[in-house]
Amino acid sequence: MVATSDRLIQLGVYPFVVPFVPITDTPLAQHPAPSTEFMFALYQQVSDLLQAAGMTSERIRAGCAKCGACSALSTFER
Ligand code: SF4
Repeated sequence: MVATSDRLIQLGVYPFVVPFVPITDTPLAQHPAPSTEFMFALYQQVSDLLQAAGMTSERIRAGCAKCGACSALSTFER
């Protein structure tokens, strides 16, 4: 995920990383959600890449990266 995020950033795409959330009555209902520790480490690594590229969610005008409700990534940009 970090390598793919880096590739997206190099293309100018903000990698809006969202933790998986199992939903009842779906095929992945029993699939475990990622741990807080996993997401923390992932967000730190992706935010380092974003900072190195000078990319922030604040500069995005619309979409999920602008909303930010489903991901904590933007809080790691600071
Ligand atoms: S709540 Fe916000 S971040 Fe989540 S899917 Fe909707 S627009 Fe995207």
